[in-house]
Amino acid sequence: MIEVRHALHDAAQQLKDRLEAELLLLHVLGKPRSWVIAHADDVLDEAQLAAFGALVQRRRDGEPVAYITGHRGFWTLNLEVTPATLIPRPETELLVELALARIVATARVADLGTGSGAIALAVARECPTANIVATDASADALAVAERNAARHGIRNVRFAQGDWLAPLAGERFDLIVSNPPYIEADDPHLGQGDLRFEPASALASGADGLDDIRRIVAQARDHLAPGGSLLMEHGWNQGPAVRAVLEAAGYSEVFTEQDLEQRDRVSGGIWPGV
Ligand code: GLN
Repeated sequence: MIEVRHALHDAAQQLKDRLEAELLLLHVLGKPRSWVIAHADDVLDEAQLAAFGALVQRRRDGEPVAYITGHRGFWTLNLEVTPATLIPRPETELLVELALARIVATARVADLGTGSGAIALAVARECPTANIVATDASADALAVAERNAARHGIRNVRFAQGDWLAPLAGERFDLIVSNPPYIEADDPHLGQGDLRFEPASALASGADGLDDIRRIVAQARDHLAPGGSLLMEHGWNQGPAVRAVLEAAGYSEVFTEQDLEQRDRVSGGIWPGV
């Protein structure tokens, strides 16, 4: 028998991360975030302690917290995540903000490579009259995204399986957004930390990391309404290269926006039409 405060202190030291220790304990106990504050003196029984210890060990072996608990917060949504989906990152909320700034109530929006559905569902939550479609090559990822839509009662997103715009033949959009894979194939980070557990197809994209961005930029020209926007997340050092790809493909008003850490994160442009 051990008090919550001691169990948490011990786990936080092992993980060198207090928040992760709390998230794992709350998962074991099935409690919400606020629970810890008022329950530091509660006593854990042997079974709870053993279950908590097992999760702490999985984390020490490298497994991401979000895959252990099966969910991650993004925007205002608590989203189911599985190893079939990338774990949503806080910096991707910039893409949501930029998307919302560019759409009107009746906008047609496509989110390419939606994974857990994070971007599409956040936009849908803020703009419930927009007509949104989310694609993913992975049927397993799309199943997660569909469950996330259902869990949050979001009805204005439909889902289509396939690469980028392939399942959307003949459709045009006012806005296309994507957080595609953009890490360089030989980047050593792919072999470190949480990235080792995430789907490689959601992370890496050719020698310079831009293979999928080039595909999306090219394909989107046939799927944007005149004056429609394309917005894509990318790495901190890829802003100039992504802008060059957009400009060479004929997009106008090409720009890059920085995330909260003042790093280039999202680039985009407007498709002027034919
Ligand atoms: N931002 C992620 C990372 O560097 C990569 C996600 C992506 O490739 N879209 O960990």
